[in-house]
Amino acid sequence: MTTPLRLGISRCLLGDEVRFDGGHKQDHFLTDVLGRYVEWVPVCPEVETGLGTPREAMRLVGNPHRPQLMTITSKHDHTKAMEAMIDVRLESLQKHDLSGFVFKRGSPSCGLERVRVYTVQGIPSQRGVGIFAKAFTEQFPLIPVEEEGRLSDPELRENFIERVFCYRRFQDLVQNRVTKQALIRFHTIHKYLLLAHSQQHYETMGRLIGQAEQYRLKELTLMYGEHFMRALTMKATVRKHVNVLQHIVGYFKGRLTPDEKAELFGLIADYHKGLTPLIVPLTLVKHYVQILDIGYIRDQVYLNPHPKELMLRNHV
Ligand code: SF4
Repeated sequence: MTTPLRLGISRCLLGDEVRFDGGHKQDHFLTDVLGRYVEWVPVCPEVETGLGTPREAMRLVGNPHRPQLMTITSKHDHTKAMEAMIDVRLESLQKHDLSGFVFKRGSPSCGLERVRVYTVQGIPSQRGVGIFAKAFTEQFPLIPVEEEGRLSDPELRENFIERVFCYRRFQDLVQNRVTKQALIRFHTIHKYLLLAHSQQHYETMGRLIGQAEQYRLKELTLMYGEHFMRALTMKATVRKHVNVLQHIVGYFKGRLTPDEKAELFGLIADYHKGLTPLIVPLTLVKHYVQILDIGYIRDQVYLNPHPKELMLRNHV
């Protein structure tokens, strides 16, 4: 990667005391573990709107598709002030070249999904999206986003971080004078990662790259980027990982002893049955890729999609 990995974050998750009650919601995985690999760009939409800390609690009211941000007791409407702040803030975030955003769940400003929306009478009626989170995802539809609560799920965590690294790599490609050759190379090294998420996207993108000459570079890059990021949001299941591992093992044909083969297939079967995490068969696969010197597989991002120190594949 040629640029630092910069992620936006709801500021209270870093431990800053910016919540309505003067507290914070520090998330230790984010600050202590992921924080070693990324630069945070903290945003507290409510404080940046000029509301103090502590402040009166707020909630979403009215139409769930276009709710108002109202204080609970005094019924003060802060929607316009928040929207004015958002217009300016999104422009400045554009310059930060973010590779992802972690939002605080449940917040009327930052929640990404299932945020309570109340009727004017104060009855919770529907679910919506926090006002800042909605504007952010509309402005930057391909940037990976997630809520901190969902990141405690190992699969969602692994998926989010993988998407962050992939997005950064794609942005580096685009920002460093992309050529069709470079795009084809990018696709080649991501093939097995894509296959682990979606066979359908893998095939569609293969066709797109195969017809690269029919498109102008800008159009091709734009289409590819959209397919690429959408593919990675599809869940990588155990069955799909087994399929990828079997594809890779196909390259070892005739080069392993019967005992080595039996051991490798045994580990893949154990993973398939849920007896071991993905890291177990993958480590042996990587070992053989290395010693058999299979360049095409060695270059696959699937083998190392994020820093091993994060140990994300020890739990999926
Ligand atoms: S949830 Fe968002 S608006 Fe609320 S304190 Fe945290 S950063 Fe600020």
